[in-house]
Amino acid sequence: MRIILLGAPGSGKGTVAEGLRSAYGFPKISTGDLLREAVREGTPLGIVAASQMGKGGLVDDATVLALLRERLARDDCRGGHVLDGFPRTLAQADSLESIGAPGPEVVFDLQVSDEVVLRRLTNRRTCPKCEAIYHLLNKPPKTAGICDACGTALVQRNDDTSEVIVERLRTYHAKTEPLVARYAAKGALYRIDGDGPAGAVLGEVRKVLDAVLGRAESTGTGE
Ligand code: AMP
Repeated sequence: MRIILLGAPGSGKGTVAEGLRSAYGFPKISTGDLLREAVREGTPLGIVAASQMGKGGLVDDATVLALLRERLARDDCRGGHVLDGFPRTLAQADSLESIGAPGPEVVFDLQVSDEVVLRRLTNRRTCPKCEAIYHLLNKPPKTAGICDACGTALVQRNDDTSEVIVERLRTYHAKTEPLVARYAAKGALYRIDGDGPAGAVLGEVRKVLDAVLGRAESTGTGE
């Protein structure tokens, strides 16, 4: 079972992916996390990505696909996985089909308004080590500025500034939103109201997923 999370930056994809990992064991595959890790490690792909990230546009397909292919080849992805931040364009969706993963595809579109995105992302803080996500108002860490999970100092991502967020939203509407119609036409799309609190959004996703998993099991098409 491959689960794809669509939605604007700040729609809660990372939080839902983490919730699904902990509830069902599906690994969370975030291309943003893979890119940031490559940048931090200074790998050849990371050096290419660094020059393209942080301005709100997209990293080139060859770089993203190379990282994704390597990650999806690992054993833990065999029984299914949750994709957070991929595909982001129609061309990437085509590439995904050619990489080939077994099982039915389930796509969630987390719908949020641009105003909510701006409010969420300017207050977001992340852990550069374990990628845990916090919100200064709605989900502050227990100790200010420190990750609850691993004790690392939290940072504001350099693309979580108002200026870059506006550009990321523009990129999302122009390049990623068309995927919603594509997956709807395939009958794989489930729309989720992403404006509410994180727990409620995850609950809605899980309700749909439990129904789909139940159906897949009874028809023998599950993983
Ligand atoms: P995210 O963590 O998903 O918000 O991604 C952060 C940044 O990484 C994006 O603004 C893009 O520059 C880049 N990125 C992440 N995923 C992709 C992708 N599938 N294709 C191209 N660029 C990506």
